Amino acid sequence: MAINHGLNGWVLNTNENVLIRVSGNKEAIDLFLESLEKETPLAAMIEKITPEEISYEAFTGFVILKSNDISDEITEISPDIAVCHECMEDIAIAGNRLNYAFVNCTNCGPRFTIIRDLPYDRAKTTMQEFPMCHDCRMEYENLHDRRFHAQPVACEHCGPAYELFARGKKISESSGFIVSNIAQTIMNGGVLLVKGLGGMHLACDAFNEDAVEKIRNIKKRDGKPFAVMFRDIEALRRYAVTDVTEEQSLLSWRRPIVLLEMKRLANQPVPAKSINSGLNLIGVMLPYMPIHYLLFQQLQTAAIVLTSGNFSSEPILTENQEAISQFSASVEAILLHNRGIFNRTDDSIVRIIAGKERILRRSRGYVPAPVRTRLNTDGILAFGAELTNCFCIGKGRKAFLSQHIGDLKGYETTQFYEETISRFLKLFRVKPSLLAVDLHPDYISTRTAQNFGHMPVVAVQHHHAHIASCMAEHNLDEMVIGVALDGTGYGDDGNIWGAEFFLCDLNDYTRMNHFEYIPLPGGDMAAEEPWRMAVSWLYHVYGKDFTTLKLPLYKELDSEKIQLLVNMIDKKINCPLTSGAGRLFDAVASLLGLCQVASFQAEGPMRLESLVLENCKESYPFDIGQTICFGPVIRGIVDDLMLEVHPTIIASKFHNTIISVIFEAVNMIRSAEGIDKVVLSGGVFQNKYLLERTISLLNEHHFIVYTHAAVPCNDGGIALGQLAVASKRRELKCV
Ligand code: ZN
Ligand code: ZN
Ligand code: FE
Repeated sequence: MAINHGLNGWVLNTNENVLIRVSGNKEAIDLFLESLEKETPLAAMIEKITPEEISYEAFTGFVILKSNDISDEITEISPDIAVCHECMEDIAIAGNRLNYAFVNCTNCGPRFTIIRDLPYDRAKTTMQEFPMCHDCRMEYENLHDRRFHAQPVACEHCGPAYELFARGKKISESSGFIVSNIAQTIMNGGVLLVKGLGGMHLACDAFNEDAVEKIRNIKKRDGKPFAVMFRDIEALRRYAVTDVTEEQSLLSWRRPIVLLEMKRLANQPVPAKSINSGLNLIGVMLPYMPIHYLLFQQLQTAAIVLTSGNFSSEPILTENQEAISQFSASVEAILLHNRGIFNRTDDSIVRIIAGKERILRRSRGYVPAPVRTRLNTDGILAFGAELTNCFCIGKGRKAFLSQHIGDLKGYETTQFYEETISRFLKLFRVKPSLLAVDLHPDYISTRTAQNFGHMPVVAVQHHHAHIASCMAEHNLDEMVIGVALDGTGYGDDGNIWGAEFFLCDLNDYTRMNHFEYIPLPGGDMAAEEPWRMAVSWLYHVYGKDFTTLKLPLYKELDSEKIQLLVNMIDKKINCPLTSGAGRLFDAVASLLGLCQVASFQAEGPMRLESLVLENCKESYPFDIGQTICFGPVIRGIVDDLMLEVHPTIIASKFHNTIISVIFEAVNMIRSAEGIDKVVLSGGVFQNKYLLERTISLLNEHHFIVYTHAAVPCNDGGIALGQLAVASKRRELKCV
């Protein structure tokens, strides 16, 4: 740009920022500054430009000075970027990149997943093993080339390559053969393991029920819906409903999985049913690596399943040897490449709610971009929760949330967790001086912190952390009304909280209202088996006689099992008390016969949400005081069930009830305290209907509503809240 504007000078990449020095006439410099801001590449983000006039220097030409990094300050690391159109055009023409699947340029390609250390240059990435050939170096060094200083630049002579394995043996290194061979395998109903950007995927034809079922079996009967990659946006539109915002997310350089509503047209085949266990939502994405495009050129199908290559509860696989040893016997072929994956990342998941992209799983394409806060976050390490874990480290005023780690209960995930913590600390040059954890003493994350070294530890109540996370995302540092609707979190009173109405700031909170406590028979088991909550609620509302009700549920449940559960509740054996909203959704899902034993997290609530009718206005009565009682709601649902009211009506009435409860509760707090800022957080707000209707109802009544977008409202965002609370308490000298 400087050259285009006839300016002389230099540019220097430092750890902290980019320094540019130019000399030339005033208009040219102004135009240059303007184009700097306007003509940025797709994935570039300029935080701030600070122009300064200094005494004239006569430069000859415009050069890039070599950076020498010494300070502990860091520049940010780019997330991985989907392959750009120009690169895809490059590989369509004859030359050393014809059909070359590792093509990339300054505007696209791998970044975070290959970076070992800073400053970002090839020697500090997993591209170190691939010395540039003469041609690539020419491009790399040519200021006018699109690959100028593109660290992973490569061609078929010097770069990484694919290798195809079957039954544990390498069968080909020829890229042409490989692509047509794997396309054949997919069209013949086979299953592949494919190494991608941040880890391995299992792939098959999305329209082949047997192949999809086979992946389910390989993943050890994990019931989680599978993501589907469509050939292009046109193909996708035939199967899913999209709006402008959803298409923007789908086509963005981050290429996340977007949750969309499926079209149910009788005259076209829908992708295999077992992809999303019959839900009406489907997680879809578009090609983002050259190999995806090359593969679709040879495939007749419009879509493939592309789900993380791992066994359920383990992190996504990254190592070639492990891939071969673990999957050779169960898949038709394994497609590997020899570019190392240093930082494991899953595909990110977003959902458009109230016209905005909401990140539900933050990983590839988003990490490690920081959250910019107004807090001094320096040296704080927040360990997150237990399921859907992410951790967070603070540097200056920035908060770096890790990629999605997963459920810490698995050994492999805990290894990944500890390894990634030490990598983040090294990468971002952070020496922790303050730790933040969940209040739950038995969380693996909490125990990891205890073994971390002698330094102060701040324990943050789970739902306070949820609210603080949303506050940090919006740079709020004042008293607010916090509404946390969630599954489970350890409460101050030792009970399991999960539907809390707080008057709070970043430092502390007062619990103003909460859902009533109800026994959680079997503890964690109850979250996996919604029928337990249904029985707990029925027993709570109707007493011993509840079994005489004529409920469809009893046809699905063994009466002995019910009696056993009642005995557990009576004797208070493994029956902690919970106010969790997620558990109430579970109970209702069970009553409606939607889900008795969940095959994936939040299955009951998701099935319940999928029944909601947009135009149903009815709701159930409830009692609201300091505790919010749902006895009348359960009675209403049971009455409706006995009258054989359609489940869609019951589900809608239940959702409308929860929205009214939120409104009434925050209204009471506003009347008493005069505060009108409402912060919504917790996993229940992944529910589109609930969040959209809550936002509009609160807006109608002149509340100012804050919701998550860039940070997950589920436990994946909790570490940011822990970090914000710890920062505030340090500022107030409470630690
Ligand atoms: Zn490119
Ligand atoms: Zn080359
Ligand atoms: Fe939570």
